[in-house]
Amino acid sequence: MYGRVKDELTATLQEIRDAGLYKDERELTSPQSAHVTTTQAEALNFCANNYLGLADDPGVVEAARTGLAQWGFGMASVRFICGTQTPHRSLERHLSDFLGMQDTILYSSCFDANGGFFEVLFDADDAIISDELNHASIIDGVRLSKAQRFRYHNADMTDLRRQLVAAQDCRRAVIATDGVFSMDGSYAPLPQICDLADEYGAMVFVDDSHAVGFVGEGGRGTPELFGVQDRVDVLTGTLGKALGGASGGYTSSHREVVDLLRQRSRPYLFSNSVAPAVVTGSIAALELIASSDDKRRVLRRNTELFTQLMTDAGFDLLPGTHPIRPVMFPGDDGARLAAEIADHMLAKSGVYVIAFSYPVVPRGRARIRVQLSAAHSEDHVRTCVSAFVAARDAVG
Ligand SMILES: *Cc1c(COP(=O)(O)O)cnc(C)c1O
Repeated sequence: MYGRVKDELTATLQEIRDAGLYKDERELTSPQSAHVTTTQAEALNFCANNYLGLADDPGVVEAARTGLAQWGFGMASVRFICGTQTPHRSLERHLSDFLGMQDTILYSSCFDANGGFFEVLFDADDAIISDELNHASIIDGVRLSKAQRFRYHNADMTDLRRQLVAAQDCRRAVIATDGVFSMDGSYAPLPQICDLADEYGAMVFVDDSHAVGFVGEGGRGTPELFGVQDRVDVLTGTLGKALGGASGGYTSSHREVVDLLRQRSRPYLFSNSVAPAVVTGSIAALELIASSDDKRRVLRRNTELFTQLMTDAGFDLLPGTHPIRPVMFPGDDGARLAAEIADHMLAKSGVYVIAFSYPVVPRGRARIRVQLSAAHSEDHVRTCVSAFVAARDAVG
């Protein structure tokens, strides 16, 4: 009996629309790349997580095609029944080697990796100390565990210490943080976090989804960037961003942690294996990333060029080196201005960027989040900056 529920849902949907929060999806009629076509227009894409441009890389696509032919379309099983093939093991080993961790367990997504982690290791006697800006999947994963929860202000080490003190009587504690905060493109201060973890006997958990593959000299993520690779206990990440962008996630950690996750982690035990073609494609992406700096170098050049040109043009960018480059539109009028500029850029210059405002970011901190990619050429970056300038002139 759907009945009254229909009217209630219609009213809720209207509330979402009235608040300006309704999310319309643009339908792409092309592969994910620097250039995309949509049902309405052709656009230069500056809002994908395709950091290394591997989403349509010919080598990655070919490896997926070969995997499809060799290993079939799907597994129709969870891993522990009959869903583990040689490539699944191989990808786990590749990830462990690349990240310098003892072992790795694959999930259907990083959302699942985070959702399936905390409950396994932390119960009512334990403490989870979490950055307030952590990704939704960490928040949900923490909710699923019975552990005591402590939250600290974003990257605030004084507050983190306060929470560690408050959690001191717990049996076991973990500090959980995103490696990169995706609305700001800022890094978690891992050396200080690791110092505090040592001081208070806590483990360190880092979700490096917005870093793995391209942050750090060898692309090994924020632990490499900060030189703390041997001090992070748990690394989670996604295959759905820089590592080819298909789907899948992982948890890399000490052997015992991964062993226990294989026994107890619910999204691993009760959800289907990652499709073989995705696994073989992801292995190819990872091999490419591990064997060459070329794409990281292009990404870095594009990020620096964009920052330089935008700063010269008088735009207000958050400081930083991450290819997430937020262009700020502060103040009461910022949300409207950011939205109008983004619309103008797509309509008039064919440059696709996304504006974010409250409640996704704090009030008065509206922004257009630009994401650079190794798929962009220098000309693409210049076109993007010109589009910003033209839109600012037109919109005021
Ligand atoms: C994108 C992202 C995820 C989700 O990854 P999926 O594999 O798409 O589920 C999790 N955590 C962080 C920090 C992310 O940026």
